[in-house]
Amino acid sequence: MSIATTNPATGQVLKTFDPMTSEQVDAAIGRAAAAFDTLRRTSFGQRARWLTAAADLLDAERDQVARLMTTEMGKTLAAAKAEVTKCADAARFYAAHAEAYLADEPADAAQVGAVKAYARYRPIGPVLAVMPWNFPLWQVMRFAAPALMAGNVGLLKHASNVPQTALFLDELFRRAGFPAGAFQALLVGSDAVEPILGDPRVRAATLTGSEPAGRAIAAAAGRQIKKTVLELGGSDPFVVMPSADIALAAQVATTARCQNNGQSCIAAKRFIVHADVYDAFCDEFVARMSALKVGDPMADDTDVGPLATDRGRDTVEEQVADAVAKGARVLCGGQRGEGGGWWYPPTVVADLRPPMRMWAEEVFGPVAGLFRVTSYDEAVELANGTSYGLGANAWTTDAGEQERFAEDLDAGSVFVNGMTTSYPQLPFGGVKNSGYGRELSAHGIREFCNVKTVWVG
Ligand code: NDP
Repeated sequence: MSIATTNPATGQVLKTFDPMTSEQVDAAIGRAAAAFDTLRRTSFGQRARWLTAAADLLDAERDQVARLMTTEMGKTLAAAKAEVTKCADAARFYAAHAEAYLADEPADAAQVGAVKAYARYRPIGPVLAVMPWNFPLWQVMRFAAPALMAGNVGLLKHASNVPQTALFLDELFRRAGFPAGAFQALLVGSDAVEPILGDPRVRAATLTGSEPAGRAIAAAAGRQIKKTVLELGGSDPFVVMPSADIALAAQVATTARCQNNGQSCIAAKRFIVHADVYDAFCDEFVARMSALKVGDPMADDTDVGPLATDRGRDTVEEQVADAVAKGARVLCGGQRGEGGGWWYPPTVVADLRPPMRMWAEEVFGPVAGLFRVTSYDEAVELANGTSYGLGANAWTTDAGEQERFAEDLDAGSVFVNGMTTSYPQLPFGGVKNSGYGRELSAHGIREFCNVKTVWVG
């Protein structure tokens, strides 16, 4: 994939970039190693001041950064602005909480024959972050804010279709005051990842992206005995039970499926509805999905912009065609839009069955699969019946059922009567093929730390 900004609303290539040479990458890793030596000796207070300055820059430049993201990957401008604000908030959150999250943890010294004994969190060094285009600022900030507060340094290999957002991030942390080399973007293709991971100065890697990318990076890191955190895809279930507020569930289902033009790992993708309320939910959901306005992502009244890549749109189209060929019914949408951009409308598909690709695969576009079930057990079995386990939604006002869903849904998060969202205060990550490790909260900042045991006799 060439490194270029291509406007998904027009298909027009706006700017291309030459990949960095291996010598340039080597020099960047050298700067990262030197910056680590400085950063790890700075205080939490100093790092917090720099990160807060980065948050201030994001607030001040919100509209301009948002336009850049919309131009590069097609999310609506309103969503892009919200993403910038979310990044600034997360930066401030870690500036405020990192020191407490990484405070020494004393043990009972007498029990281990010591005068004092404790666990201390220390940074581990340069971490490679391989990031996707779908939330081009947020996915990076989710890694960078805790990493920098812990005293680690970041090397960003961003998706090849968002190079200008990558360069903005490269400059952001330097402008905020962090030492040169503390956070750098490497404009390289995915073929450069394995050699970078092989460099002894690079200590770990984090990836948000597809399952194949996860397998490749985990294997390469494994050969080097380096830790990875993987945030991969999801095919999140959205279960609606008879006691649910059906109108609200259908409204949130529409947002949950179509947020970010349907390209979110934690978007609800499979709508599993109890037979008692299936028709009511289906009517409301299809009406809401059909009413969404697809169009220019820069326009204020647009709900759904283009898909980010031509290839991504082809995949969604093939998944729907495969389901239809095998007997599924399209209740709305289902045909690519006209014009030069990569348009695909909000679509609802019913009667999905196991041989269909939509049954098992993640659909990275605004396409919902509808399923009818007749019991709690059937709902849970279906919800858990994919290789993924990122988020899960359950809609029920029955307190006992809420507790059972929290227990039984096999996912990194369960949201009851609300859509899955990431918060700096809560851990974020998946189980099964959705990946491992956690981002955000105290769990996230500790992933790339050496939990050092200190025993003093
Ligand atoms: P990818 O996983 O291919 O891209 C994500 C990042 O990984 C990019 O920086 C990419 O670089 C890099 N990458 C890809 N393959 C490798 C590899 N073998 N070794 C090292 N780095 C690699 O996502 P796509 O953009 O191709 O999207 C494909 C599918 O992935 C989507 O349809 C969706 O299902 C899933 N996805 C999930 C995301 C999530 O949030 N969990 C985000 C994005 C995609 P480069 O851009 O240079 O190829």
